[in-house]
Amino acid sequence: MIAMHNSFYNPDCLFCRIAAGEIPADIVYRDEHVLAFRDINPAAPEHLLIIPLKHIASLNELQSEDKEIAGHLLLAAGEVARRAGLYDSGYRMVFNTGADALQSVFHIHGHLIGGCRMGWPPF
Ligand code: 5GP
Repeated sequence: MIAMHNSFYNPDCLFCRIAAGEIPADIVYRDEHVLAFRDINPAAPEHLLIIPLKHIASLNELQSEDKEIAGHLLLAAGEVARRAGLYDSGYRMVFNTGADALQSVFHIHGHLIGGCRMGWPPF
């Protein structure tokens, strides 16, 4: 377990606790800024979540000082997709933000989904 008690880590946040190793997850990728793990309730044959290690509640709370983290998260997507076997077939990355988008965990996460042919639009 990594002991971190500052604004980077929120002890009440599920994804902060996964990032700290306090709650187990099927981790597929980690670097100095982001972590990717499989969603516990997959919506597609492959469904991963890419999160910043830093606690940021949603895209609405992202600050200009977080540019490097935000860029890193997008840059990691291709490698996460490659590790999940989705790089060539394709995948979708979605950031549910706020009530209408049904965001349920308030720590930024990109849903990276694939492994099947998807439709568009998603409603
Ligand atoms: P949201 O609804 O905020 O867009 O997405 C939250 C996602 O987190 C959901 O797809 C949900 O299945 C996933 N999730 C919730 N709790 C856990 C957990 O304990 N472990 C993992 N790996 N995923 C979780």
